[in-house]
Amino acid sequence: MENKTPKVFIVDDDKFLLNMYSIKFSKNGFEVNSASSGDEVLSKIKAGYQPDIILLDIVMPGMDGFEILEALKKGNLVPNTQVIMLTNQGQLSDIEKAKSFGTSGYIIKATTIPSEVVEEVRRIYNLHKTI
Ligand SMILES: [Mg+2]
Repeated sequence: MENKTPKVFIVDDDKFLLNMYSIKFSKNGFEVNSASSGDEVLSKIKAGYQPDIILLDIVMPGMDGFEILEALKKGNLVPNTQVIMLTNQGQLSDIEKAKSFGTSGYIIKATTIPSEVVEEVRRIYNLHKTI
């Protein structure tokens, strides 16, 4: 069980970042899927995709990260998934709001280099996983 490849679903409207993080996580032993909008997130989840981890941006056109969290929670769509925020919004109010949705972690993009993002996600995931 400890050798299971973690499935990470990376959500960001910035295609450059999405691509860069996807490559980084793939190279580090994660199974990667990605989405650049809330609609895409919800359609993939509703089609049956159940990631172990969702990395969620906040500022996006259309649904923002909090609206996505709300939709996921309301429908109990990802009961066994850890959500980690990956955003440039560093205000305490945003961090508290994310926590109130039961998210597992909060990473600020601008101050965390990609390899640190991978390590931080791995650390948070291992800390909270139950199986
Ligand atoms: Mg964004």
